[in-house]
Order: sequence, then structure tokens, then C-alpha cells
Amino acid sequence: MTSNQKTRPVGIRPVLDTVVVGAGFAGLYQLYKLRQLGLRTIVFEAGGDVGGTWYWNRYPGARCDVESMAYSYSFSEELEQEWVWAERYASQPEILKYARHVADRFDLKKDIQFNTRVLKVTFEESSHRWSVTTSKNETFRARFVIMALGCLSSPHSPSIPGLETFDGNCYHTGFWPHKKIDFTGQKVGVIGTGSSATQAIPLIAEQAKHLTIFQRTANFSIPAWNKPLAKEIQQQWKDNYRKLRVEAQQSSSGIINMDSDQNATDLTSSQQQKELERRWKYGGLIMWNAFADIMKNHDSNDLVTAFVHKKIREVVKDPATADLLCPRNYPLGSKRLCVDTNYYETFNRPNVTLADIKSHPIKEITATGIETSEGFFKLDSIVLATGFDAMTGPMLNIDVRGSDGTLLTERWAEGPQTYLGISMAKFPNLFMITGPGSPSVLSNVLLAIEQHVDWITNCLQYMTENKFSLIEPTDEAEKNWVQHVNEVAEDTLYIYGDSWYMGANIPGKPRVFMPYVGGADKYRDICEHVSQNKYYGFSVSN
Ligand code: FAD
Ligand code: NAP
Repeated sequence: MTSNQKTRPVGIRPVLDTVVVGAGFAGLYQLYKLRQLGLRTIVFEAGGDVGGTWYWNRYPGARCDVESMAYSYSFSEELEQEWVWAERYASQPEILKYARHVADRFDLKKDIQFNTRVLKVTFEESSHRWSVTTSKNETFRARFVIMALGCLSSPHSPSIPGLETFDGNCYHTGFWPHKKIDFTGQKVGVIGTGSSATQAIPLIAEQAKHLTIFQRTANFSIPAWNKPLAKEIQQQWKDNYRKLRVEAQQSSSGIINMDSDQNATDLTSSQQQKELERRWKYGGLIMWNAFADIMKNHDSNDLVTAFVHKKIREVVKDPATADLLCPRNYPLGSKRLCVDTNYYETFNRPNVTLADIKSHPIKEITATGIETSEGFFKLDSIVLATGFDAMTGPMLNIDVRGSDGTLLTERWAEGPQTYLGISMAKFPNLFMITGPGSPSVLSNVLLAIEQHVDWITNCLQYMTENKFSLIEPTDEAEKNWVQHVNEVAEDTLYIYGDSWYMGANIPGKPRVFMPYVGGADKYRDICEHVSQNKYYGFSVSN
């Protein structure tokens, strides 16, 4: 609770200009910018501290897959220069420390109400205010609501029969306890083989007596080659930050050195292999863009797949296990690429078993373990690395009602409908940071956050300067944007993976490709075009 709220007489709520929901990197930067505009703002955060993703995901090995020098705010040169990252890819504790440092340095916490979940937001036609109801049973009114909820903040627990009857400890990677968990001497089962699992598995395997990994779909994982960050490299970044940030903004992926301008089809076989080796040795996400046509052309994608299969087989000694670990039947990159440290190596350990639950599905979880159609696995602990109800989950967890009583749940019944992934028709003065229909998770998310926050802040400034009270996209602009988002996705291989981008990981969720895949650079230009043309596609009124 903020200091001014503590002394406020009970029952009297301050009149707010803006409510921000979420105090991850998006909410923190948004608060900072709103203060500069002089807007009275409260941030509500369900967690007990700032950091969002990095507050909740404390599983062993949790780490960034964008290099730390790039996965950082660019809005303050002083902050950029003073912060020292320890490793090439920052660990969860280090990123959380950074988020806390930012909050303290810019004195942000006094306007953040922690341990407070927003349950309901309703647009009041009579006052043109949003009413915001929280889990503390308080209702606030504000002109603007900005949802800084994150794309991956709603952990998904699978509905496996008997899960609740398990007698041992059960953890979800996205909701990890705030204390050290020691698996020493235990039989542990990990369900899932996505990014969270590939990071956690090598470290759990080092502790556990025995670790069984329950794999439904093999994932592509690329070594991070993580290491301490050399002082000279850090200094090079700091000396060139302005130029490097602009380079990232002007790239399609939002990450420097990642995009490729050569199609695999234009290269000889030896040139292709040389480029793939170069990217493998560099490590991390850059394999995703190995060739300009990797997400457009099945043959180009297949050759990268074959390259990764070869690498897996070189590492994993047991041929049957290696075979199971080779991803098949979907294009590389259509599910988020994993970035690991010793993931494939872990399967050479004598205390590690890979259980193929695609061929032998889980039948039930009992008090003592997991029963598959292959047999029973006795376990002391289960780790659910089963992901998130991504992109739409956090918004739909809130009861959102717009003008004319429009329900968000109805509006999004067939998939998210947004204009630019920032706003929605029928929901005036409500904004989303990295909402569905924007590049968000296909980019360096911090870069995407900064772009949205700057855009929203400029929009609010425009509204204030011109004495406008309401802004919302027209139905037509929204419809055209959704169509465009779908069309660019349909022109790629992204739609061939059963990914969380497609909503495919949640039973019953509409299958729609949710992020904007047209490129972070192009998207930025479109947003600029919209704002420079008097908020083209929006209806603005007083
Ligand atoms: P979040 O960090 O998710 O913060 C949203 C906050 O909103 C949360 O604290 C949540 O508690 C709060 N909230 C949600 N609903 C409510 C509500 N109703 N009421 C009150 N509070 C609410 N991105 C990258 O670019 N690179 C990476 O390497 C990378 N690694 C990741 C690793 C993991 C394990 C995960 C899960 C995600 C990763 N991401 C990565 C994506 C990551 O989510 C973003 O980079 C970034 O941290 C998102 O910041 P945010 O503020 O938008 O959202
Ligand atoms: P995820 O990628 O969605 O992976 C979930 C895993 O759980 C998949 O292997 C999935 O199998 C499995 N699963 C889900 N339900 C299941 C069920 N009922 N039975 C058996 N298996 C089931 O989730 P995540 O690993 O938490 O990652 C989510 C995203 O967060 C990432 O894609 C990334 O964007 C971000 N992240 C990044 C990092 C990083 O490296 N910086 C780390 C963690 C997370 P199927 O594939 O068969 O569905």
C-alpha cells in the first residue's frame, strides 16, 4: 500500500487519471512515464513485489534467452551505464534485482499497491470513467486503464486425472515457491519440455536421485553457451548503446545480429552448413532466423531441422533417446525455440529417464506417482513445466466490460480482437501493453514494452493537450488489423506448430495466431504512421 493510501480516510478513494495493472517491466516503465505527464496513477500488482515474470518464475535455471545487455531498459542512459550485468544471459535472481533497482532508483514503489489483484474493470457510460475493483474489495475510478499484464503471467496446470491426489510436493515453474527447493535424494518427475523445462531439467538432474522427464512433444533447443560477461564486451555495449538500440528497433526480430537477408535456397549446401555452424557456435535464439526464408519455405526449414537433429545425435549417446528428443512434424521456430545449458547432455546421466507420453500417455496421477500406459513411475515430487494460458489468459481472467455493456469474453470468443494489439473497439481509454496482435513475444519483449509504453504515453499527451476525453479504435480499423495479423501469419510456417502462439496448448482455446509476425520494425512504423496521422483508425472525442 502506498504512503498516501495509508493515511487516507476509509471509504474515500483518490480520483485517478490512470490505473495500471501489473508491475513487471511494462507496468514499471508505464508508471515512470505517466508521472512525467503529471497523471495521478496507481499500479495494482497481484504479486508481493515488482518484476512480474522474474518475480514468479523462480525455478532452478530460470534465465533470459535474450542477451542481458539487450534485455534491459533503454529509457535512461544513467541506468544503462551504471548497471553491471554478470553473465551473457542474466539469471532470474539478477533480473529481479535489476527490476527492484529500477523501482527504487525512480522511486516507483510508492504508487504500487502489491498483493492486489484487479478482478473487474467496467466502463461507466455516465461519467466516462473506468471503475476498477480489486481483490481487496476496493473500487477505484480512473479515466484511463492500462493493462500491463504480461503475455506469460497466467500459469497453466494441465487437467490430468488425479493430479490433486498426489501426496508428494507439486510445483509449477511459473508459480515457484519463494524458498530454495532441495530435490536431493528424491525421485522427481518433470512434465513438459518447453523453455522452462529445458532450463530446469539439467539442474534438477544434478540434485535428484532420479529424474523422469515426461515428454509429449520434443522441442528444438539451442545451446546458450552462457558465460560471465567480459568487462570489455560490456563496455563496448555501453559505448555504443544508442546505435545498438536503434539497430535493434530497426530489425525485424528486435534483436541485433539475428536477422538474415539470405534465403537458404540461394546458397550452396556448404554455404548453408557454414552459416548453421556459425549460428550454432554463437548460440541462442539466432538459429531462429538462420535464413531469411526459414519461416516461409518448408525445405529451408527442414534443412535447419536436420542440422539440429544431427547435433542432438552427436550429444545424446543412447540412439533411442536421441531419436525421441529429435522434434518432428512441425517447423523449427513455429514453437518458441528453447535456449539451454546442458539440456541434451543431461540425458546421458544414469539418473535420468525420458518417458515418451505421446506414445504412452499419462493415464492418471496417484498419491505416489504417475501412471502411464507404459507403466508406473513412483515419485516424491512433480514439477509442472506446462506453460501458460498465453497472451489472452491474463486479460480474460479479469471481468472486463466496455461501453454498451460489451463483455471482453464475448468479444474475444473466437480469438483476440484488437487494433495494433494496443486497444480495442468498445473499450474506450483502455490500453494493453504487448497485447495480442502486436509483435511482443516474437521480439525482445523489453524493446516491445518500451515501444508500447512510449506510444501510449504520447497518445495520452495528445488527448490531454487537445482536451479529448475518449479514444477507441473504430470497428473497421480493428477488423482490418485482425485480418492483417491473420494474413501475415498465414503466409508463414508459424501456423503449422501446435504452439501457445496459436492457443493450441489450452484445450478449447480458439486457434488463432496471436502475435503479429510482420516484423517488429514494420510494426513500429505502422504505429508511428497511426499516431502521426491524428490517430488514424481511432475515434477521438470530447
Ligand atoms: P510480466 O512480467 O508478466 O508482469 C505482469 C504482471 O502483471 C505480473 O507481475 C502479474 O502478477 C501482474 N498481473 C497480471 N494480472 C493481474 C491482475 N489481474 N491484477 C494485478 N496484477 C496482475 N522475454 C524476452 O524477451 N526474453 C526472455 O529471455 C524471456 N524469458 C522469459 C522467461 C520466462 C520464464 C517467462 C515466463 C517469460 C520470459 N519472457 C522473456 C517474456 C517476459 O514475460 C517478458 O520479457 C517481460 O518480463 C514481460 O514483462 P511485463 O511487465 O509485460 O509482464
Ligand atoms: P511451454 O513452452 O508452453 O511448454 C509447456 C510444456 O508442457 C510443453 O512441452 C507441453 O507439451 C507440455 N504440456 C502441457 N500440457 C501438458 C499435458 N497436459 N500433458 C503433458 N505435457 C503437457 O511453456 P514454458 O516452457 O513455460 O515456456 C513458455 C514461454 O515462456 C516460452 O515459450 C518462452 O517464451 C518463455 N520462457 C522463456 C524462457 C527463456 O529461455 N528465457 C524460459 C522459460 C519460458 P506440448 O508441446 O505437447 O504441448
